Amino acid sequence: MSINLIEEANRCLNCKKPLCKIHCPISTDIPNIINLFKENKIEEAGDILFKNNPLSVFCSILCPHENQCTGHCIKGIKGTPVDFPAIEKEISSKYLSSLPLKKQNSTDNRVAIIGGGPAGITSAILLAKEGFKVTIFEAFSKLGGVLRYGIPEFRLSKSLIDTFETYLLNLGVKIKYNTLVGPTHTIQNLKDDGFNYIIISTGVWNPKPMGIKGETKGDVHYAINYLISPESYHLGDNVLVIGGGNVAMDAARTAKRMGSHVTVMYRRGEEDMPATKVEIAETKEDGVDFKFYLAPKEISDDLMTFLRTESFTDENGNRKLITLNDSDIAFPYTSIIVAVSQGPKKNIVLSENRVSTDKWGTVVVNDSFETSLENVFSCGDVVTGPKTVVAAVNDAKTVVANILKKSNLI
Ligand SMILES: Cc1cc2nc3c(=O)[nH]c(=O)nc-3n(C[C@H](O)[C@H](O)[C@H](O)COP(=O)(O)OP(=O)(O)OC[C@H]3O[C@@H](n4cnc5c(N)ncnc54)[C@H](O)[C@@H]3O)c2cc1C
Repeated sequence: MSINLIEEANRCLNCKKPLCKIHCPISTDIPNIINLFKENKIEEAGDILFKNNPLSVFCSILCPHENQCTGHCIKGIKGTPVDFPAIEKEISSKYLSSLPLKKQNSTDNRVAIIGGGPAGITSAILLAKEGFKVTIFEAFSKLGGVLRYGIPEFRLSKSLIDTFETYLLNLGVKIKYNTLVGPTHTIQNLKDDGFNYIIISTGVWNPKPMGIKGETKGDVHYAINYLISPESYHLGDNVLVIGGGNVAMDAARTAKRMGSHVTVMYRRGEEDMPATKVEIAETKEDGVDFKFYLAPKEISDDLMTFLRTESFTDENGNRKLITLNDSDIAFPYTSIIVAVSQGPKKNIVLSENRVSTDKWGTVVVNDSFETSLENVFSCGDVVTGPKTVVAAVNDAKTVVANILKKSNLI
């Protein structure tokens, strides 16, 4: 165990009202975990973390901690917050290497999970541990969703996802790779084949276009497609990345590492960027340039034109943005990567119109995360729109609790 992590744990004030825990979206019992860590009770701490959040190891690396635990640590008011994510990572990684197999006796319940991202993996682990016969249907050739096909290796080691695949297989989960549910097999087919419950956890894989002239040109790509296999692209030496969220940062850093000069173009100011401060700082450290207050207008063969923008705070305290007329400014490019947002693809709902969606294409669910079709549940980004790993895990826990309730198992 690393000495400086113990020193870090000793800095925890054990607050009566632990703001770190209160602001953790999955209510991780941070003070208790820190105390167990100090007592070297790593297995016990790992067990508590895993039971509350089977993907705690990913969350320790990926959560926007500055808005959650560390962002609310009292120690952070006048100095540096306690680095709980580092402690969580240490405990969770050790625990993963010896994950106990505590499978219940098999029940007759069969569950089809469509999509093997964080929401699907969490559902599969929790249901398989309860003895459900689980099959994951995954469109890609490997498990992980965005963890594998979005977030670059330099931020998250893919070997961690492989550990979960092995664990799922050991729990008896079947995984059908390269299987896109919708066109060939429908929800009805799954029901007909005896799946008592179905969970749709298909994420948001439809990039949102900017809606400007010239966007179909060959050198314009979408970040979530690019990040699936950056090595297939020939971006040239001058890449513009459009957007200010974590997807834009990942695309920019990846393109930079592949050898291009990269500039992130954002229509608001740095303080408005949805990416975390840590991500922005790391993107700058990687040598990516930033330009602000520029709204995309048009793309020609080798120039992208923007309109200048200005932001101000209105009388109600809301930040507003205006685009300045006749303020055109053009930048040369060799490739453009668009990262403005994503929505769900419609493979499933086109083949099953009893599952309701809203105007953005996200699946509509009730408080139990059940869709408009009985015993068909849905969770993760496909319900909420693009969010976070921890949110997907949390929603999957609710789905599983409701399936257990319906099956009279709790
Ligand atoms: C580039 C990028 C960086 C991100 N960085 C962070 C971060 O640092 N921290 C953070 O907390 N969050 C981050 N996020 C968001 C986070 O990854 C998502 O909120 C999370 O992955 C959602 O999990 P999910 O299981 O709902 O969906 P996904 O991870 O998208 O998984 C859905 C899975 O369903 C499969 N699928 C889709 N349709 C079908 C079908 N019809 N049949 C079979 N399979 C199908 C897909 O192939 C995919 O494997 C990032 C997102 C992106 C795109």
